[in-house]
Amino acid sequence: MERVGTHSHIRGLGLDDALEPRATSQGMVGQLKARKAAGVIVKMISAGKIAGRAVLIAGPPSTGKTAIAMGMAQGLGTDVPFTMLAASEIFSLEMSKTEALTQAFRRSIGVRIKEESEIIEGEVVEIQVDRSMTGGSKTGKLTVKTTDMETIYDLGNKMIDSLNKEKVMAGDVITIDKASGRITRLGRSFTRARDYDAMGSDVKFVQCPEGELQKRKEVVHTVSLHEIDVINSRSQGFLALFSGDTGEIKAEVRDQINTKVSEWREEGKAEIVPGVVFIDEVHMLDIECFSFLNRALEDDMAPVVIMATNRGITNIRGTKYKSPHGIPVDLLDRLLIISTKPYEEKEINQILTIRCQEEDVEMTDEAKDLLTKIGVETSLRYSIHLITAANLVARKRKAPAVDVQDIKRVYMLFLDEKRSVQAMKDYQDQYMF
Ligand code: ATP
Repeated sequence: MERVGTHSHIRGLGLDDALEPRATSQGMVGQLKARKAAGVIVKMISAGKIAGRAVLIAGPPSTGKTAIAMGMAQGLGTDVPFTMLAASEIFSLEMSKTEALTQAFRRSIGVRIKEESEIIEGEVVEIQVDRSMTGGSKTGKLTVKTTDMETIYDLGNKMIDSLNKEKVMAGDVITIDKASGRITRLGRSFTRARDYDAMGSDVKFVQCPEGELQKRKEVVHTVSLHEIDVINSRSQGFLALFSGDTGEIKAEVRDQINTKVSEWREEGKAEIVPGVVFIDEVHMLDIECFSFLNRALEDDMAPVVIMATNRGITNIRGTKYKSPHGIPVDLLDRLLIISTKPYEEKEINQILTIRCQEEDVEMTDEAKDLLTKIGVETSLRYSIHLITAANLVARKRKAPAVDVQDIKRVYMLFLDEKRSVQAMKDYQDQYMF
């Protein structure tokens, strides 16, 4: 059985090249303005134009705020770090709130490190350079510890050079016998290469890529600042990365890493890739966290912070003051705000259709219409949840597709929020206080 995540149908923001939203695309339906705004932000992040900025996605429950954030993550690609957390996650006994936020920030700053490939320790191969096919007759032997073909080209090249005072040129055809690492230069003549092939040899013909022959391969990898912090904090080290149990990291370690990374940047060995921290239910943060955010956003290595909330005017946690979305006005003033709005019936129907496909559920049109009505009356999320349940009921009665009766059945079995509240009111005196 395959588990399907809540947002697994979202494959991007569904925009065209001009950043215009397509009505339905990449699993996304409607919410056009919000998607377009999110697309503009993705574009700016990708172009490295913004860092240390904050965006708020605000709207009623189940209007796709998290879905849009997921779409943005996909649009940014795998190289740009994207960290997701619910505001409530930062309240833990193991670490302070600001430490948890700092770690989330540093997880979202990528360091793209460029390295020249070293000879990789591997199986021992022998390289023989044989010039007999091109008229020469000298043969040399060299043993290297590598399985890397680029390195083999490189070394073979040097061998030919030392043997014949003549280099293999870019564009030349060479043959490499993978098993023995035997390299033969055949010049630029394909006819000859084919002749050679016709002799029944099992060697591989390789056309040397233009200009690349003399170069070692450049390896680029992206790690996050947080990963570098963890690896370098001696008490925890590398293993902590896998267990996730990183504990608090000392300020001195972070300072050292920052200095080192700046050096790498100056030497051209590394570049910074500012990513994104997504903080869901941001109204759950308290006044201390908000003040931390205000300051942290000003750091020159800050990521883009995207927050989401479904609250209107509410208390700022930790104070007795109210403010829009429970966010202090000074922070609010810095935010780019994207708003999402409730879906129309047609859009709910389309989202349900996509979810049925994603969950591999056959459903009759009548059943889907009923489920759509339920979605309009209750919430989109509730109606999405009923898909799997209804499918189980339909399977039990061996029906080929979910029908109206299955939807009715699960609607009676599972309460939505409104009916649940009503049930609470009806039976209030029977609950514990
Ligand atoms: P909340 O405020 O309650 O956290 P939310 O606004 O974050 O809600 P989501 O969790 O994004 O809402 O949406 C609820 C469900 O509907 C998810 O499964 C989501 O993937 C799906 N969904 C929401 N909007 C869209 C959309 N525009 N296109 C496709 N699927 C959507």
